[in-house]
Parts: sequence; structure tokens; C-alpha cells
Amino acid sequence: MRSTTQGPAPRLIYIGAVPSHDVLIIGAGLAGQRAALAAAQAGATVAIISKVHPVRSHSVAAAGGINAALNPEDSWESHAYDTIKGSDYLGDQDAIEIMCREAPDEILWLEHAGVTFYRNETGHLGTRAFGGASAARTYYVADITGHAILHVLYEQLMKYSEQIDRYEEWFGTDLLQDDAGRCIGAVCRNLRDGELQVFNAKTTILANGGAGQAYRPTTNGLIVTGDGIAQAYRIGARLMDMEMIQYHPTTLAGNGLLITEGARGEGAWLLNAKGERFMEKYAPNKLELASRDVVSRAEQTEINEGNGFPDGTVALDITKVPKRRVLEALREIVNIGRDFAGVDITREPIHIHPGQHYIMGGVKTDVDGQTTIPGLYAAGEVACVSVHGGNRLGANSLLDTLIFGRRSGEHAAKHALQMTMPTTPASRISDTQAAIDAIVNRPAGGRRVSSIKEELGDTMNKYVAVFREEEGLQKAHEIVRRLKEEAPNASIDDRGTIFNQDVIGAIELGYMLDCAEAIVVAAVERKESRGAQFRTDFPERNDGEWLKHIDVSANGADVPKVSYSPVTITKWEPQERTY
Ligand SMILES: Cc1cc2nc3c(=O)[nH]c(=O)nc-3n(C[C@H](O)[C@H](O)[C@H](O)COP(=O)(O)OP(=O)(O)OC[C@H]3O[C@@H](n4cnc5c(N)ncnc54)[C@H](O)[C@@H]3O)c2cc1C
Repeated sequence: MRSTTQGPAPRLIYIGAVPSHDVLIIGAGLAGQRAALAAAQAGATVAIISKVHPVRSHSVAAAGGINAALNPEDSWESHAYDTIKGSDYLGDQDAIEIMCREAPDEILWLEHAGVTFYRNETGHLGTRAFGGASAARTYYVADITGHAILHVLYEQLMKYSEQIDRYEEWFGTDLLQDDAGRCIGAVCRNLRDGELQVFNAKTTILANGGAGQAYRPTTNGLIVTGDGIAQAYRIGARLMDMEMIQYHPTTLAGNGLLITEGARGEGAWLLNAKGERFMEKYAPNKLELASRDVVSRAEQTEINEGNGFPDGTVALDITKVPKRRVLEALREIVNIGRDFAGVDITREPIHIHPGQHYIMGGVKTDVDGQTTIPGLYAAGEVACVSVHGGNRLGANSLLDTLIFGRRSGEHAAKHALQMTMPTTPASRISDTQAAIDAIVNRPAGGRRVSSIKEELGDTMNKYVAVFREEEGLQKAHEIVRRLKEEAPNASIDDRGTIFNQDVIGAIELGYMLDCAEAIVVAAVERKESRGAQFRTDFPERNDGEWLKHIDVSANGADVPKVSYSPVTITKWEPQERTY
């Protein structure tokens, strides 16, 4: 952290003991880092906060690639249409148009910044096919695309170190508002020593990522706990499309580890226990490369009808892909197969099933990242623009983080540079301090945080998964409500201040429970089947009644309040969706 006495940084100021920046960014994955660069380039001072070292952010796990219609034979309109169809017509078409139009320039920007995208035999940027796409438009770095991009962005942050202060291993606990309801920064805890600090900011961007840990198993890392979604919800922001939870078709049984869609993009087949290529029945044209909701439902149907293996799986046969290509382009999943399933994927099929992977919903924003709270922005998986609607196409999320991260950074900076700095007293830590003291002083011996978290994850995975129905969803809601009552008494062991992950775990549990309740309430509300929400009691899509977003907000009520907002349609009218 830079102090006022260091270096030529005339625009960074302290007001009292409070560091004050034009733009405060909470989260340093792809969305947060891209926003920071854009804001700095626009002339703003920036603080970027991350609860882990930035290059350990969950974006590092992204494997398969990033979409853009860069080839002359491809077009942004085709990319947009595929995305809209993939979203089951719930995606907002103005936002999707922006994302797909701006994608090619973003890929070139990344390449010029140093991302070593795969180049083909002719020396051109090469692509692989991904699900739901009518052209092979996924650019990639082997199966470590997120890792490659994240490290390059982090290098770029160094160039702007005069303007960007990095607060690594700091945890944002609460967003702060002024009397008019404007967001004026956040309270954060330094994980190294437990110090609480107010961060004063003209504008604040949430880039905290998704909420996958509310499910068990999930492909998401332990840090993906819905912090930003819950914090925004708690101060009155609207959430949108929360019922839309993506189950990825190829996750390992037991631990939820992801086998990238890149495997099917390279030519792998899905087989049931009878050796049948069952996607011929469900998606005769696109087969394994139908969109994810369609493939996951097909797999789950095979498993439910007794055509799966005894361990509740079907098989992914990567032996269809030439071994040389597997070792070149899919080397990480060779390791995953060997280390976590004891399978050499170049020689035999591997057992997989659908597993929780991504949340299409999040904090509702406009195309510049502005939420319904003045001064508060959101970008990346924490946000819902909504470019993914009912179902995200593979390789569109990295694109979403970068395009809307950049746009949020630019807009927040422009806005901030026209404002005066708010003054937030250091004493605004008091509520957070009291909440942390209450956690630390809980009596020993109660139910553990991890036990509540496991019950939450199992409940969501049982009732709010690929197939849903009213009774199960109501049961899930009852359990989430009970867990919300139990959580404030969950006991912890570590009562110290240095890297106290027990305290952080207790706080994160509250965020996950808030997210879970919003997901369940929205899933109960949507009485139709669309995208990732398949209601067995309402198996048809019903555009007449449900071609609209479900918004969820706190508004001081005990249970989330539901409202609706329209879907923006520019030129693609809803059609029947077949693959
Ligand atoms: C295994 C896997 C593979 C994937 N592969 C692909 C792919 O190939 N292509 C694709 O398009 N998408 C892919 N995705 C999805 C994509 O990776 C994510 O949606 C995207 O990376 C999210 O980026 P983000 O910047 O929004 O959040 P993240 O990268 O999750 O970053 C969140 C940041 O917020 C910080 N943070 C969170 N809470 C707090 C807090 N309270 N205080 C301080 N900091 C906080 C974290 O430390 C982190 O820095 C994949 C996802 C997974 C799980």
C-alpha cells in the first residue's frame, strides 16, 4: 500500500486515516484487473483489492478459451445470434451485440499485450469449436487460457503502479453508503493481521466472481463464495436471473473437477453404459456440441433412465481425438484424468456427469456496469448484464469479464473524475468490527461452519440442479431458511487475527446463504422451462408469460422481494430452440 509520503502520486489522497481513490475495485480476477487497467488509462486513481493474490483468482482455472468472431468468414452477428439462442432468448440483445462487436478488438488487444494464443500451421491465430456455436471461434492457449490472460493482465497492472494501488490478501466485508444511498467505498480486512480499514471511493466496482461454493460439488474453487452478490443485495441492489445456474456437462464424479468443453470441441464423444453415442437422440445436428443446458439434460436423462454407469455417470471418450493433439491442446486434463480418476484419457473413456459450474445471474447492471445503487458498478461473474440469459455458451464468460470489466472501468473513471471525493470517517468500521467480534466470541462446541456449508451445498445440488420442481424447491427454501438461523451460532476454533480463515469462512457462509435464498426464490417464481431452469412440473418454455427477467432484492424484507424487468430484443425474435 502506498502512503502519501511516497513517490509522485499527486492524485492519491488520504482523508484522515482513510485511503481515498477515484475508483475502488473489489476483486482482481479478469474482470477486476481489466477494469483497473481501463480506469487507470482513463486517468483515475485506483485501488484493487483481492482476498487472494490476484493471480490465484478463480479466472486462473479457465481452460478452454475465449470467443470472438475474428475470422473474415465469421461475423459478430453470427456470434450474437448463437449467444442469444444459447441464452434461450433471455439474454439482453443490446448487451450481447456490444459484447460480440467488441470481442475481436479485445482479442487483438490481449495478443498485443502478450497473451500467447495458439497459432495454427499457417501462423494465424487458430480456433477450436465450442458448444452452441455455428463457427469455430474460440481462441485459446492450450487448456490454460485463463491462466495465460490473468498473468498478462497482472504484468500490465505493474505498468500503472503510479495510479493503481494493489491490496493483495485484503477481504472486502461491507459496502458503504452515504445518507443519500450512494456507494462511497467499503470496509476491508487485512488478512495478514486482521486490521479493518475504510476505503473511501468516488465509485466502486464489484468484480468478486460467482457463487459456486453454495453448491457441492462444484467446479469452482473454495474462494468463489458469492461475496459481491450478497454484499450488493444487502445494501438494496437488484439481482437478476439468479435462478439460472449452469451445470457443466463434463465434471468428474465425486470432486466436481472440470473436464473442459475443449475436449468435445476437439472431437470427444459422449457414450452411455451401453456404448451408445446418445447425443444423436437429443441434438442430432450439433451432437456433443449442443449448448450446455441441452447436453447436461441429455446426460442426466440417460443416468435417470438407467443407461448410465453404476457410479451415476456417463462416459467422455477422448480417445476419438488423436493422441498428439490431446497432448498438445488438452494436456491439463490428461493430468486431471491421471491424478484424480486414475484414467489415461488418451487410452480409455473417463466417467463424468453434469456438475455446478457457473451462475448466469448476479448483480443487475446496464451495459456500462452500473448497478441500481448510485456509485456502485459490477462486472464479470458477479454481475448480470445479462449476456448469458438462461444459459451461457462456453468461452463467453472470459469475454464477458473483459468487455464489461473494461467498460465498467472506463465509465466509473469518467464519472469519478467529475466528482469531489466523499469523506468517510474511519469510524465507519464499527458495525463490521462488532460483527467480527461477535463471530470471535461465539461459544465453542456449536455446529461447525463447514457442516452448515456442506448441508447447503448438498441441498442445492439435490433440489436446485438440472431438473427442478415445486416441492423440491420449497424444501430447499425451508432448509436454507433453517441454515440461515443456525449460521450466526456456528462455532469457530481460531480466534486470532493473523490469516484467520475461520472468521472469513463464517462471513462467507452468510454470503452463500443469501445467494442460495435468492437462487431458490427465483427458481420457485419461474414457472416454465427455459435454459438452465428445467421445471419438470412446467416442462415447456412459455414466452407469453415468462419472457422476462426475474429480479430479486432485499428491500428490508425478511424474504427476498421478487419483481420483473423486460428482456431487451433488438432484432432476433424468439424461436424454437433445436440443435
Ligand atoms: C474450471 C473452470 C473453467 C472455466 N473455463 C472457462 C473457459 O474456458 N472460458 C470461459 O469463458 N469461461 C470459463 N470459466 C468461467 C470463467 O472462468 C469465470 O466466469 C471467470 O473467470 C470469472 O472471472 P471474474 O473476474 O468475474 O471472477 P474471479 O476470477 O473469480 O475473481 C474474483 C476476484 O474477487 C476476489 N474476491 C472475491 N470476494 C472478495 C472479497 N470479499 N474481498 C476481496 N476480494 C474478493 C477474489 O480474490 C478474486 O480476485 C471457467 C470456470 C471454471 C470454474
